[in-house]
Amino acid sequence: MSEKLDLLAKVEREILRFDQLMLDISSSFLVETLAPRVHIIKPKPAHRPQTAQRRDVRLTLMAIVHGVEVAGLAVLLELLEGLKAGQIPLEVPLGVALGNLPATQKGVRFVDRDLNRSFGREAVESSEDRRADELEKLLGRSDLMIDFHQVRLQIDRPFWIFPYSKKGYHFARAVAPEVSLITHWGRGFSQEGQCSDEWLNHNGGIGVTMELGQNGFDPAQITLGFGVVKKALAVVTGAHFGHPESPSTTARAPLYTWGEIIAYPPTGGPVLDAGWHNFKMATAGGRLGTFNGQDVCASVSGPVLFPKYPDQPTNGVYGNTAPAAELIRILKVIDESDLPAEK
Ligand SMILES: [Zn+2]
Repeated sequence: MSEKLDLLAKVEREILRFDQLMLDISSSFLVETLAPRVHIIKPKPAHRPQTAQRRDVRLTLMAIVHGVEVAGLAVLLELLEGLKAGQIPLEVPLGVALGNLPATQKGVRFVDRDLNRSFGREAVESSEDRRADELEKLLGRSDLMIDFHQVRLQIDRPFWIFPYSKKGYHFARAVAPEVSLITHWGRGFSQEGQCSDEWLNHNGGIGVTMELGQNGFDPAQITLGFGVVKKALAVVTGAHFGHPESPSTTARAPLYTWGEIIAYPPTGGPVLDAGWHNFKMATAGGRLGTFNGQDVCASVSGPVLFPKYPDQPTNGVYGNTAPAAELIRILKVIDESDLPAEK
């Protein structure tokens, strides 16, 4: 329990540091605040005369859309420290936003409903619905967005994950080609509410999500995320001024899409065998677990993702238990020729 209290105390300090840094950098940059902890940072003097251009933010960086996924908060703090010290050049308008602050302060994934299923909803029933409306003000002005997340279970690598768009794919490959990339397409609009990247893709911009690793303030993940931020800024700045970066020569990490999604059966007690973790390999025909005494087997071979164990909270490290919609996913490796032709 004290571990949780230590984490919550650190989270409080880091949120205050975020606010202080935003104040500090306002002497060197123009800061426009759209909502609490939703800001646009612009070079001073403005790189061009202010226009009524609606989509005026070249890149937006979001963190803690899920309350327990705190590494992204630390990444944004590194960025603000770098801006304050003059170590990071900023030549284009940049959006920064902290997602679900009440959830982060409570140490839970969300308070009333998943913020990352709350974009684009008509209903305003929860604090997350209201927060999504505030974040949409920034996303609606953003060309590109990276949303930093983390996963609940053990994982040995970071990965990109986002609904496929050609621009999003090329952006992610330009920014961090060495990071595995999972993309997917063809699933219809969900009435339940959209993810941040999905919403932006439907509203004139391009969104991508990076999962940095397992939940927590992990220094290696923070270093990785900060590297991604610096590279992303360089990529969008180059594109803005008509000097696109030459294609990276770094070897590209594998590209995946869903091979199989095994739904959580509505009744009975499915039990995954012990030991499944993100990116552990499953084999076609191999057993994943059991359901009512029957084996549950993989129909394809590939690394698994998001295994759900019924005896664990499905919804954050510390609480918010909710029934899982699915048991496990299996990835399949594809190559660029398998991606949709134009999107
Ligand atoms: Zn997340």
